[in-house]
Amino acid sequence: MTFESLGLHASVLKALTESGYTEPTPVQAQAVPAGIAGRDMMVSSQTGSGKTAAFMLPALHKFAVQADEQPMGGRTVNQEMQSARARGERPRFRAAQPKMLVLTPTRELALQVTTSTDKYGAFMRRVKAVSILGGMPYPKQMQLLSRNPEILVATPGRLIDHMESGKIDFSQLQILVLDEADRMLDMGFIDDIEKIVANTPETRQTMLFSATLDGVVGNMAKRITKDPLIIQI
Ligand code: AMP
Repeated sequence: MTFESLGLHASVLKALTESGYTEPTPVQAQAVPAGIAGRDMMVSSQTGSGKTAAFMLPALHKFAVQADEQPMGGRTVNQEMQSARARGERPRFRAAQPKMLVLTPTRELALQVTTSTDKYGAFMRRVKAVSILGGMPYPKQMQLLSRNPEILVATPGRLIDHMESGKIDFSQLQILVLDEADRMLDMGFIDDIEKIVANTPETRQTMLFSATLDGVVGNMAKRITKDPLIIQI
């Protein structure tokens, strides 16, 4: 099987060639076409299985197609603030409106996901991924959010702070990913996750990855997904 046969956008295929990937891993072979088709999924897979690309490639594909359809659309929050100043107005703070949110249990995983996203999105226009992590200085996070990134990769606690203070608006969110969901629950993030999910649109696509889909994590997965494809690797 090839990545071309999965139907990915040319800019994504170019990044995969540059990365030296020749064929999809088993989880990618199942998750990428389903992701492109817009399906929710519950995936049981381990670190090292290629799961990051399994959720990121269909998302980047979707954003590349949208960018082709609206080549000039979208101004950054910074640009809007600058033009307000040029008009002599006091710029109003505008919340970031991400299209995709990836929740991870740890800072390390969040940074890995962001690095992989930069690699897979290297040939796309206007796709930015930023990490929002506990322990990162607040002004730095505000600066990252003011660029209005398409993709946020975050640990749940810090994200809640920004959400509750109105710095992030999820009304435009298209894709929600829970990566290593079982570890997030083990770390006690269930209430934070529920709160975040409740702030996202019902129309979102939800992809949940976990070592196991049994018990508490399986119940949560069923609550937050709609007619999910179940992939067990
Ligand atoms: P992950 O399970 O997402 O942490 O990925 C594990 C490692 O496999 C990472 O170093 C990826 O860069 C690499 N990888 C992911 N997909 C592929 C692929 N289709 N071909 C070769 N390497 C891959």
